[in-house]
Amino acid sequence: MKQIWNLPKVDLIPFSEIDEKRPVLLVTSAPAWNAVKNNLRGLNIIETIEITEATTGYWDNLQSKIVNLNPEIVYAVGGGLVADAAKYISVKLNLPLVVLPTALSVDAYITAASGIRRDGCVYYIETKVPENLILDLDTIAKAPASIQAAGITDVMSIATGAWDWKFAHERGKNPAGMEFIPWVYDNAQSILSGVLDCAEAAGRGDRDGLKTLFDCLCMEVQLCNQIGHSRPEEGSEHYFAYAVENEMGHGLPHGDLVGPAILLIARFQGLDTLRLEKSLKACNVPINNIPQDTVDRTLQILPAYSEQHNLPFGIAHTLST
Ligand SMILES: [Zn+2]
Repeated sequence: MKQIWNLPKVDLIPFSEIDEKRPVLLVTSAPAWNAVKNNLRGLNIIETIEITEATTGYWDNLQSKIVNLNPEIVYAVGGGLVADAAKYISVKLNLPLVVLPTALSVDAYITAASGIRRDGCVYYIETKVPENLILDLDTIAKAPASIQAAGITDVMSIATGAWDWKFAHERGKNPAGMEFIPWVYDNAQSILSGVLDCAEAAGRGDRDGLKTLFDCLCMEVQLCNQIGHSRPEEGSEHYFAYAVENEMGHGLPHGDLVGPAILLIARFQGLDTLRLEKSLKACNVPINNIPQDTVDRTLQILPAYSEQHNLPFGIAHTLST
């Protein structure tokens, strides 16, 4: 581990109070922008790029079209895909980045990596942490219910991800640099408990509930930053989500795949799923959208898939269905 990443500086202000004089390169998606643009008249936008895919080839291509202008700062308005692309592009352009989440849908707003699709899997490449994040809880409370608090899945995945980490430890399968650390495991469990407690409030758009969900996302991310890997929160549930995405298509929100995957993997791990299910439902994460035959097929290929893509050892590697 050569460095420890930080979290963005967070400003808790309404989007309508933003007054940005520097020339802005806006990275966004059409639905997100249409939902909030009336509150963002304070941005001096000189160029806009819309993101619809998560491959570096696609991002490089978009970026190559903007060389004639001279933006001084990048603003990312939207969800996880937009944040990931904006982190990549702002590194390439060597510009500061401000992210404006329009929903608490993932942890990508505050991580130093961008998820990219390659060979039917999701890989994370190091990019950077946005310098600044503007958290407008009133805007988030108006986001579509299904994505507003869907980022709970990236904290709830501690239940199954940390289980995998311990499981790998017991089997002697954690490689150097990913050794099991009991106090980190305990910290992760405490963050998990915090997020389950706020699920109902966050799911109904309560401002304090959403703030607590954001706090839990930040603590989960910083815990992983400190140790240099994501094993406390990423395991077989994410592997299942990556694998099933190939059948379900790439347009689905992250939580739509990770949410049901948490329940599925938790059952294999012998965890009590009652509270997990209740919390997902409270945050309007759809848990029955993946057809049963697709679930079955994905479970069948999952051990070989996890092996093939070099995913860190977890229960996924051992499933025989
Ligand atoms: Zn995730």
